[in-house]
Amino acid sequence: MIDSRKPPSRPLPATTCDTEPFWSGGEHGELLIEQCDGCSYFIHPPTGFCPECESRDTHFQPVSGKGFIETFTVNHKRWVPGLPERYVLALVRIAEQADVRLATNIVNCDPGDVTFDMPVKVLFEENDGLWIPLFEPVGSAA
Ligand SMILES: [Zn+2]
Repeated sequence: MIDSRKPPSRPLPATTCDTEPFWSGGEHGELLIEQCDGCSYFIHPPTGFCPECESRDTHFQPVSGKGFIETFTVNHKRWVPGLPERYVLALVRIAEQADVRLATNIVNCDPGDVTFDMPVKVLFEENDGLWIPLFEPVGSAA
C-alpha cells in the first residue's frame, strides 16, 4: 500500500463560517469577495458586517481576479518544510477596490522580477479541500 496522503505544502488558514466561501470559490475558478448588499462595498477579510454603512446584509461576489501588487517581500528562509526557499509574500489589491488587500504569494515568476504595482491575476492551489488564492504576473505563460 502506498500512502497517497501528502503533508500540506503550505500552512492552511483557519476557516470560519464567515470566511469559508473565500477559500472554496477557487473550486469554480472564482475569487469570491464579501460585498455589502446595501452599498456594494467589498469587505475583506470577511466579517459579515459592512464598515461603510453598518449593514449586516452581505453576499460573496465573484470578482475579476485581477489586481496589483501593493507591497511584497521575498522570503529567503525556509520556514516550512516543502515550501521553496525563495518565495514572494505579497499584499495584492484587487482591481475592483483599492483597499481590499489579500495576503498571498506571487508564483510563476522569478522573485527578482516582482515589482510594486505589477499587474497580477489570481490562480488557485487546492490544498486539503481549500482553494488558496495565489497570484501570478499578467501574461505569465503558466
Ligand atoms: Zn455597506
